[in-house]
Amino acid sequence: MNPWVAKAVILVASLVMVVIRAPHGQRSRTIPVVKSRKGLQEGVLLTIAWIAFFLPLIWIATPVFAFADYPLHPIPLVVGTLCLALGLWLFYQSHADLGPNWSISLEVREHHQLVTRGVYRWVRHPMYLSLFIYSAGQALVLPNWLAGPSYGIAMALLFAFRVRREEHMMLEEFGSDYEMYRATTKRLIPGVW
Ligand code: SAH
Repeated sequence: MNPWVAKAVILVASLVMVVIRAPHGQRSRTIPVVKSRKGLQEGVLLTIAWIAFFLPLIWIATPVFAFADYPLHPIPLVVGTLCLALGLWLFYQSHADLGPNWSISLEVREHHQLVTRGVYRWVRHPMYLSLFIYSAGQALVLPNWLAGPSYGIAMALLFAFRVRREEHMMLEEFGSDYEMYRATTKRLIPGVW
């Protein structure tokens, strides 16, 4: 199949992701941070995530990764597009449910509230789940061994190094409320883990 189909799908998905995130990024700049766990590790993880987000766009716009291309097949294209759509919906919904409590990094904001409703009823990290589903979609749709899995690798690193620190921060902030929430929800996969 013509790789331009994959290029179009990835370009649209990346744009939708930016459009979903943009208003939350803007709003978060207006809400004071009262506690921050940003440090070198967070900086490195976020930089890797940014680079990984741009690799597919570089693949679309230039031939630099052409040496790692492979042929595009219709089944991974269709399954991957469905994963991208599901991932983007969950990305949208988790932002909507988290509202002003969202931060790009590990931060507690002024008047921070513990969110346990909406998609946060199913798992404690629906936004990270959405990014994993999106990454799986990207790896399936994008027929290149480098740019295809790049975002998934970055998200796996972010999750592995961040999630315990994030939960620890929430536990410090919300005490028994978070303990109760943690006891009644799974971390990432509803009903499993
Ligand atoms: N890990 C969550 C949120 C990612 S955004 C998810 O995957 O859906 C990261 C910020 O969200 C953290 O800095 C933390 O302050 C905030 N946060 C995480 N879980 C939260 C919750 N249940 N309620 C309110 N804020 C939360």
